[in-house]
Amino acid sequence: MPALLVSCAHLPTTSVRALPEPEGGTLFAQVPIFDGERALGPRDVLVRGGTIAQVSAAGSLSPSDDTRVIRCDGCTLMPGLIDLHIHPDVDGGAPWHRHMLQPLDQGRAYLYAGVTSVLSAKGGPGQRLMEKAQAKGGPPVPHIYSSGPSLTAPGSHPVPLLWDTVPWPLRRIAVGLQPTASTADEARVEVRRVANTEAPPFYKIYFDSFPAGSPHMPTWVMQAAVAEAIAQGMRPVVHAGSSQDAVEAAEAGAALLMHAPFTSPLEPRQIERIAATDVAFLPTLRAFSWPVELMQGQVTAFERATVSPALLDAFREPPSGYDQHGMGIWMQDFGATTRTLQANAALLVQAGVPMLVGTDCGVSGVFPGAGLHAELQALVDMGLEPIDVLTAATARNAMFLDPLGTFGRIAPGQRADLLLIQGDPVQDITAVDDIMGVWIDGVELTRVDLAGEEPRP
Ligand SMILES: [Zn+2]
Repeated sequence: MPALLVSCAHLPTTSVRALPEPEGGTLFAQVPIFDGERALGPRDVLVRGGTIAQVSAAGSLSPSDDTRVIRCDGCTLMPGLIDLHIHPDVDGGAPWHRHMLQPLDQGRAYLYAGVTSVLSAKGGPGQRLMEKAQAKGGPPVPHIYSSGPSLTAPGSHPVPLLWDTVPWPLRRIAVGLQPTASTADEARVEVRRVANTEAPPFYKIYFDSFPAGSPHMPTWVMQAAVAEAIAQGMRPVVHAGSSQDAVEAAEAGAALLMHAPFTSPLEPRQIERIAATDVAFLPTLRAFSWPVELMQGQVTAFERATVSPALLDAFREPPSGYDQHGMGIWMQDFGATTRTLQANAALLVQAGVPMLVGTDCGVSGVFPGAGLHAELQALVDMGLEPIDVLTAATARNAMFLDPLGTFGRIAPGQRADLLLIQGDPVQDITAVDDIMGVWIDGVELTRVDLAGEEPRP
């Protein structure tokens, strides 16, 4: 094994604090709006009691004495961002530099970055801590949706990854907690157990062989798990690795592919078969790009602002011999993996397969909030229009989490998860990094820089 450096105190550099909601609500006065689907001109938006109460013509609403009035020249008001693929139990650090769980710090980092809702792609202690904080009303964390404890085949993904990257003695516990099924019957029993205990809205299944050569869940076991999840009222979300895995998961009835296929290119006939189903997919364009970017010192502005320098620096200081074992060997393929994944993502978009947005945040090199901002940029770099990327990351992601459509748009009755942006992100996606304010459930968050405790804009 390579030397594994573990420390427990990488404090974040930024945070958020909740401000009391004003009695008379908050009025965004004459602010241009991206409503989750369309760029509208200036509007008055009144938020009260955690929801959007009114959206009216600019200048038409008059505030009462106890209304907080927000005016912002050259700004855009938009729905909070949503990340549909996060792992609250891991911190995004290098495989040789993991540290103790800090899920509540992660929760604040998401909010700092304007990410107001997340889908946890694997349940565990981190998710539970965030759920508890959410239920108690603080400290502020994003709305968290669960896909259960997940299901894999014995020894299959993510077991080799846990074994390689989780520090001793936690790795034995982490592997022991991972539910597995080797037969269709075992899969049905486990799915029913989860439905009868935590009953998450989504159910995650691993259908992959990662690293190459490790055990792969048989197709009929995946099909049984998907069918049973649907029968139990949970929507199946599937991590599929190869193009054939993706086709089989989609045809089995998966609601969402957690990645574009990344281990083999999609053939035209496979794309047709996926497009003929109701499945949506997450590109996760940057899930495997960290060995190139972070190990070479390419750090985004948002990563620099929100990730502890020690965590970032560790990518540039791999221990000697790291490339002889486990992840060190697997990551040598990540350049090719990223090219396959990006090409497949573009093909699925062209074929009209609904694209949602998620990051795989928590895996090495993908950090809370900063990872989503980089993903949005990568999707625009892939050739998508900013408005399509923003729609996917707000209104469309929200409709996936809640088909009743109670949030993700700026419209009366919607949950007031909002971002105030300097500039117009519909014209220039980089504007979305320039956050002037974040609201969750109508509660304003102050963004602070912990180095100097100076309020950031
Ligand atoms: Zn994942």
